Amino acid sequence: MDVQDISFEVSDIEFDSSIDYVVGDTIHIVNRASGVSFAWYVYLDGELTEKIMWRKSNEFRYEFKVYGTYRFKAYIKSAADNKKVKITQSIAVKNVTKSYSISHDTPVVLHPFNAMSVLLYHKLKLEGFDVVRFSDPNPLLNKEQYDNTPITPVYHCNELIIVCESKIKDFRETKELYMSQAGVPPEMVADGNMISTKADDFDAAMHVDTKQFSKLFSPYKYYYRNHNNELIMLRRLQFLSNHGREGNVFQNVQLTMTQRCTLKCRDCVTLTPKFNNPVDCDINQTVASFEKFMATVDFVNRLVLCGGEPFLNHNLGTCLMKLEDIGLLNRVGLIQIVTNGTIVPPDELLEQLAGLNLLVTISNYKTLSKNINKLVAKLNLFNVNYYIDYRPAWYSTGMPRLSEPLDVEDSKKQRLLCRSNCRIIWNDEFYFCAFLKSAEQIGMIPNDSRNSLKIDKVFNYEKLERYMNAHYPGCAYCVGWPKTHYSLPAAVQL
Ligand code: SF4
Ligand code: SF4
Repeated sequence: MDVQDISFEVSDIEFDSSIDYVVGDTIHIVNRASGVSFAWYVYLDGELTEKIMWRKSNEFRYEFKVYGTYRFKAYIKSAADNKKVKITQSIAVKNVTKSYSISHDTPVVLHPFNAMSVLLYHKLKLEGFDVVRFSDPNPLLNKEQYDNTPITPVYHCNELIIVCESKIKDFRETKELYMSQAGVPPEMVADGNMISTKADDFDAAMHVDTKQFSKLFSPYKYYYRNHNNELIMLRRLQFLSNHGREGNVFQNVQLTMTQRCTLKCRDCVTLTPKFNNPVDCDINQTVASFEKFMATVDFVNRLVLCGGEPFLNHNLGTCLMKLEDIGLLNRVGLIQIVTNGTIVPPDELLEQLAGLNLLVTISNYKTLSKNINKLVAKLNLFNVNYYIDYRPAWYSTGMPRLSEPLDVEDSKKQRLLCRSNCRIIWNDEFYFCAFLKSAEQIGMIPNDSRNSLKIDKVFNYEKLERYMNAHYPGCAYCVGWPKTHYSLPAAVQL
């Protein structure tokens, strides 16, 4: 069979995209195209939720319940030579709606305890609903309260339970788990995604106690990584609700604490082992630069203190204290310290970290991370949030190009495709990426004022925007950060 001859029509699928499905409706899809296999990718609200393989068959039925707006993509494979041909159709289910009527007399339980349930809690409270408790399967949370509302185990009840999960797969699993654990009848379980109230997210976010919320998340420790985006989302909502919805938001800004490190990784993205005389940053200059930067930017989702090994800089605590004192941390979603597990910081610093909205991310390089157990014990003792990153491989992103530098045109193209997302401040310089910073500092690329932006008296948002959209001559010496990259074994030592 010639793969080009395969055709696929929407009419082969028994699916009516013109009708308005509502949540809970069942859609039947029947594949009547014969002689070909299908791979269906089901997207829910833009996210891939399921991949369904249909082997060649004269008729294959698939049915599922509607929970949101779906889009399907079908890849057809030739049964003869097994080649993937093309995306052929994409169908959206529109106007998926569901309204739950919750009367003010109905006691409501929110499940589990997460950012979505906390936000919904405040929305419902603003409208005078009776939220009697959160429920959560984590026993460590079951002695806790949020805003004087208890967090209880999952148990059978006659209250309306609203399951709050942002992903449909999680929602289905959570709902099923909830019902199987507690024996709750399905009609008593509602989908948090579908609850609409008059109070909007911004109004509710004003009332969220993010300090208490992040404290309650700390028992999760290892799971914190899954939740820190929720915390960032809440803090940003809070900020934007105070200052209007418009804002210049930066996703990820790094303050490089030091060029020094305890390890010598061959493929280090900050080229740390290549520094001949590595030094720590100037804390006063770094704080002053971040202050100037924040005078032009409204919110930074993630502020990363990195290195080298950031705990080698004994002034890291002073840096955080200064940033807090001048109020900059209120406009940061989450502070992150990335460490390699070789250093246990002093108790005074750990005490300080515990009081902040902060996550220590420990890269676990096995025997190289020689103090990881001691570090984890101390972080537990001082109740500092942490996450252990077991990533065994790195990606080839933003690294030196071993062949000849690119010519200007190719370098410009590479820059346009580059997906690097970490912006770096080193003393009074702002860099688009780690490669530009380190490669310039060690003399791997020719010095060129266009590679960075000075954070000086005349620094402003227009300059920042122009720099962010510019082409950097240093890109010619870098492999870029394309969509396809190869993986490298992590932390191979020189
Ligand atoms: S531990 Fe991190 S900063 Fe240090 S050399 Fe390895 S990759 Fe670079
Ligand atoms: S291509 Fe340019 S912007 Fe992207 S990582 Fe390399 S040097 Fe940085």
